[in-house]
Amino acid sequence: MTGTDDVEAEQPLACLVVGGGPAGLMAAEQVARVGHGVVLAEARPNLGRKLLLAGRSGLNLTHSEPLEAFAARYRPPNNPKIYNSLEAFRPQDLCTFLEDLGEPTMQGSSGRIFPKSWHATGFLRAWLKRLQALGVQARVRHALTGLERQANGTWRADFATDDGPISLAAASVILALGGASWPRVGSQGDWASILQDLGCRMLPFAPSNCGLKRSWSAYFQERFAGSHWKDVSLMLLDEAGTPAFGPSRGDVTLTRSGIESGAVYPLSALGGGKTILEIDFRPQTARDQLAADIARLRPRASLAKKAGALKLPASFVPLLKEAPQASGDLLDWIKAFRLPLEGQMGLDRAISSQGGLALVELDEAFQLLRSPGLYAVGEMLAWDAPTGGYLLQACISQGFVAGRAVAQGLSAA
Ligand SMILES: Cc1cc2nc3c(=O)[nH]c(=O)nc-3n(C[C@H](O)[C@H](O)[C@H](O)COP(=O)(O)OP(=O)(O)OC[C@H]3O[C@@H](n4cnc5c(N)ncnc54)[C@H](O)[C@@H]3O)c2cc1C
Repeated sequence: MTGTDDVEAEQPLACLVVGGGPAGLMAAEQVARVGHGVVLAEARPNLGRKLLLAGRSGLNLTHSEPLEAFAARYRPPNNPKIYNSLEAFRPQDLCTFLEDLGEPTMQGSSGRIFPKSWHATGFLRAWLKRLQALGVQARVRHALTGLERQANGTWRADFATDDGPISLAAASVILALGGASWPRVGSQGDWASILQDLGCRMLPFAPSNCGLKRSWSAYFQERFAGSHWKDVSLMLLDEAGTPAFGPSRGDVTLTRSGIESGAVYPLSALGGGKTILEIDFRPQTARDQLAADIARLRPRASLAKKAGALKLPASFVPLLKEAPQASGDLLDWIKAFRLPLEGQMGLDRAISSQGGLALVELDEAFQLLRSPGLYAVGEMLAWDAPTGGYLLQACISQGFVAGRAVAQGLSAA
C-alpha cells in the first residue's frame, strides 16, 4: 500500500480506519470494495505486527465447532453484538477468505483451524497487496492523539507523526486500536483517554490468556526454561487446597518466570491471587495401573531412574526440589503434584486483555451510540474469549460488520 499520498484535510475522506491489525484491515477492505477511498492510519512502522507475532508459534485462526457453541465461548455471555457479528462473518467465511488470499486452511484433531503454512506472513502479505489494489492508502507512523466531531458532522482525527502533528477529516472513522497486551507490538491501550474525552465508558484493562508465575531457582531456569510437560492435566486449587478451576489438559511450556501454554491460559481467568496448581503428569493412566507400573520397578533404583523408566519429563525430579511435597509417595507426586504459584503474568506477555470500551456504548454495527459516524471494533472492546481462534475470528468479524455498515451508508448517500 502507498504511504505517501497527501490527503486534503479540508476534503473529508469517506472513511478513515485507525489501527492496522486484522480488525482494521477487514474494515478497510469492506469500504474499499464498494469503491470508496479509505485511509488506514497505523501508529507503528508496519501493519499487522501482532498478527505476525501470533503466527510465530502456529496461528490458530478460528474453530470448526457449530456457531452456537462457538459464540458461547465469549464473555460477556449471550451478547447479541458479538453473536450477530460472528453470524455475519462466520468461521467458514474466514477460511474461504484466506483461501482467496492463497492460504488454504486445515483443521486439527481438536477442531481448531490453522493456515496450512501455520503462519500469518504469507496471507498478510497477500492481503496488504489486495488492499493496495483496492485503493486503500496506508499511513504508517501515524499515532492517533485526538478525535473531535466537527459542526458539519464529520470527524477530525489528530495524529502525531515523524513530521509533527497532522489532522485528517473523515465522514466516518473506524477505530481498531487493539487491546493492551504485548504493548511492544502494537497497542498500549493509551488511546483510552481519547474515548473517555468523548464521554465513553471504559472498563479497566487486565491480562487475559496469560501464563502463571512461579519463581524457579537459577539452576531450574537455566536448565528447563523452554522445555515442556507433554499431555498433563492441570487443576487450580485455592490456598486452602480446594479445587477452584479445571481440569485443563494439554502440553505446558516452562518459562523463566513460570508456565504458559494453551492448557494454562484458561486457568489464568481466575485472577491474580496466589494459588496451587495440581498437576497430573499421567492423566492417560489410571491410578491403579500406574501403581502397578511403579511396583514393577526395582525398589532400590534411584528416583531419577524410576522417573526415567516411567517416561516422566526430565524436569520432574528437579521439580521436587523446587516444590517439596508435604506428603505422599511417587504415585501421589505423579498423579497430584502440588506446585504453589504466585499469580498471573502481566499484560506485557498476555495473549489478550480484558477491559476496554464498554459494549453498551455501541450499536449493532459497532457504531458509538453517542458519536454517529464513529465505530470501534476488535480487541479494543470489552469482550474476552479463550485462545482457540476465538480472538481473531471475533476481531475480523467485527471489522467486517463495521466496514460493511460504513460501505452501505456511503453507497446509499
Ligand atoms: C503471542 C500472541 C499469540 C496470539 N495467538 C493467537 C492465535 O493463535 N489465535 C487468535 O485468535 N488470537 C491470537 N492472538 C490474539 C490476536 O493476535 C489479537 O486478538 C488480534 O491481533 C487483535 O486484533 P485487533 O485488530 O483488534 O488489534 P491489533 O492486532 O492489536 O491491532 C491494533 C493496531 O492498532 C494500532 N494502534 C494502537 N493505538 C494506536 C493509535 N493511537 N494510533 C494509531 N494506531 C494505533 C496498533 O499499533 C496495532 O497495529 C495472539 C496474541 C499474541 C500476543
